Amino acid sequence: MDTSGRVGGHCQTCLKTRSWSIRLEPLPDELLSSYLVRSAHAHGMHPMHFVSLHFPRAQIWTRDIDARAHTQLVDAIAQASNLSADLVRSMTLSPLFSSNANDADAFKGQSSWLTSIGMHGRFRSRHGLQFCPQCLQANGAFLRTWRLSFAFACSVHHRMLENQCSACSAPVVPHRARFSPSTCHRCGSVLGNVHPHDADLPVDEALQVQEKFLSFCRHDFIDVGGTIVERADFFSGLAILLKLLREKMHWHQVNLDVHDHVVLDNHEALRFSVTAVRLRLCASILEILNRWPDEFFRVAMTSNMTRASFAHCGKTPTWLGEQIDWLPQRLRRQYSYRASTLLKRVREIEADGGAHCREQRARELMAAARKWS
Ligand SMILES: [Zn+2]
Ligand SMILES: [Zn+2]
Repeated sequence: MDTSGRVGGHCQTCLKTRSWSIRLEPLPDELLSSYLVRSAHAHGMHPMHFVSLHFPRAQIWTRDIDARAHTQLVDAIAQASNLSADLVRSMTLSPLFSSNANDADAFKGQSSWLTSIGMHGRFRSRHGLQFCPQCLQANGAFLRTWRLSFAFACSVHHRMLENQCSACSAPVVPHRARFSPSTCHRCGSVLGNVHPHDADLPVDEALQVQEKFLSFCRHDFIDVGGTIVERADFFSGLAILLKLLREKMHWHQVNLDVHDHVVLDNHEALRFSVTAVRLRLCASILEILNRWPDEFFRVAMTSNMTRASFAHCGKTPTWLGEQIDWLPQRLRRQYSYRASTLLKRVREIEADGGAHCREQRARELMAAARKWS
């Protein structure tokens, strides 16, 4: 990984490659990794062998190239597949969050919005690659939308997305599947046959929330309560807001809606969370955005958000920072107990002496430490 967070970067000579004999067309919204896997199978090769033949020493399956691929890797794949570099880059996820391909800040900001696949070398420990069994069955491709934290359902088949093999519960790892990317790499079961495991979740609400977030990805600028915000700033601010909202949900449970209780059982970051939690959090954020900034101030007041609450969240974009500035610095006044007062009290205890002198002095010091912390 280079300083901008992009992966797959190597010396230029390592990525010189010859053209593939079979050149597939990418399917609409297909992931770059899915395109490589399909190309490998079209050549009758296992994806591991295919990549090591055409991109020797390039780290492809040991990296999340869908999150963001290095320019050299994009160029090499473009050359081999006879596609334009722009088209290859558009198969990665970063263009969804920033129109600037070299925006390193935007890359950091997008990480909350991508589901985690838990890279461990060539293995994956997380169920971050979602899929619609029917779509996968139909075309054998994995889509970019399925890697998004705000993707929950398939609008074509009106069903929740799946994220594991129903036979062995393994995460989906298409490049390790022996014969077809639409089979489980561990047990060989056909992923198109998996049974819905989130059948009780509301598909219509999920599609509504998902479509709203996807519409944000389609615009370079987003209107937030009358303020026009650049897409990368919008998503980075939204990630901060979501983080705070989640923290406050845990601290102020009395304010929770009955639907919010699903969030309380899960303390993981959005990208690691299960579908039900992600859906609840994204729906809550949308409610705040729909009545921005009034709803933000209402939620901030009921959940005791202050400027100090946001201090650990790093740099906030202007559209969010301007509203945070209206919040109180902190709700409790700083303790006004001076050091000289404490010193005087400690000296009095020491002067009085007695069997409990040390205990009293320790208690006084501990109380002061608690109040000053
Ligand atoms: Zn589908
Ligand atoms: Zn399996």
